[in-house]
Amino acid sequence: MSIEVKDLTKTYNLKHHQKKLAVDNISFTIPIGEIVGFIGPNGAGKSTTIKMMTGILTPDKGSISIDGLNFKTNRKEIMLKTGVVFGQKSVLCWDIPVIDSLKLFKDMYRVPNDIFKENMDIFSDILGLEGFLRQPPRLLSLGQRMKADLAASLIYNPDILFLDEPTIGIDVLSKERIRQFIRRINKERHTTIILTTHDVSDIESLCEKMIIIDKGTLIYDGTLPQLKSIYRTTDLEEIIKKIYLEGEERNAKIC
Ligand code: ADP
Repeated sequence: MSIEVKDLTKTYNLKHHQKKLAVDNISFTIPIGEIVGFIGPNGAGKSTTIKMMTGILTPDKGSISIDGLNFKTNRKEIMLKTGVVFGQKSVLCWDIPVIDSLKLFKDMYRVPNDIFKENMDIFSDILGLEGFLRQPPRLLSLGQRMKADLAASLIYNPDILFLDEPTIGIDVLSKERIRQFIRRINKERHTTIILTTHDVSDIESLCEKMIIIDKGTLIYDGTLPQLKSIYRTTDLEEIIKKIYLEGEERNAKIC
């Protein structure tokens, strides 16, 4: 079982009949149970790709198969299988206590009581949810909000979790807790995790596999050690800088 993305393409319509090709014919496979770093410079097409993989946007061309399911015929099954955390957009209700939002998710996804309790125990254990469960998100810090969002997106035991910038703007200790939590969920439940991040330490500490895109096209698809051996250095930050610079140079030549 895997996630198969094939020839995915998306163009946005701009004003004055202009178009922006955001994702240009990309294909990749993500084996189930892996943590994949999905990276690229700003404007590379990451969000657009993730939005297509989560059914928010429809591709112009190409296909997405999730464990053999596709959005045309199996939208509901895919939704039940996937959790999504978009850093800037919370799934929680802003004004009601976090626990009430979690209970709402429990009902929506028909989570049995024992699973809900088991999950709440795990989330409290690593993420320290207990401390702020009765507060609404509007009163929480960024780190607490991210932890609450992670809990909401995992309360129904999805097989796949999309995480967009899970540690951005968060203090070192909370960052480490969040990474620890992601690792534990992946290890214990074999949840496939697709992570977009600009934080090299997130990738170093979490990802086995990396997919790099730039200007809508696929630049690299392979393991982290392979990438390091290609660039003959263990300094991932240096490698990523080089890749982005190569992209700019390519672009300058085309222009
Ligand atoms: P990333 O997530 O890697 O920063 P995006 O997928 O957000 O990249 O954007 C890819 C390209 O598509 C960028 O050039 C961006 O300006 C453009 N784009 C993104 N969303 C829209 C939109 N709703 N309308 C028009 N252009 C968009």
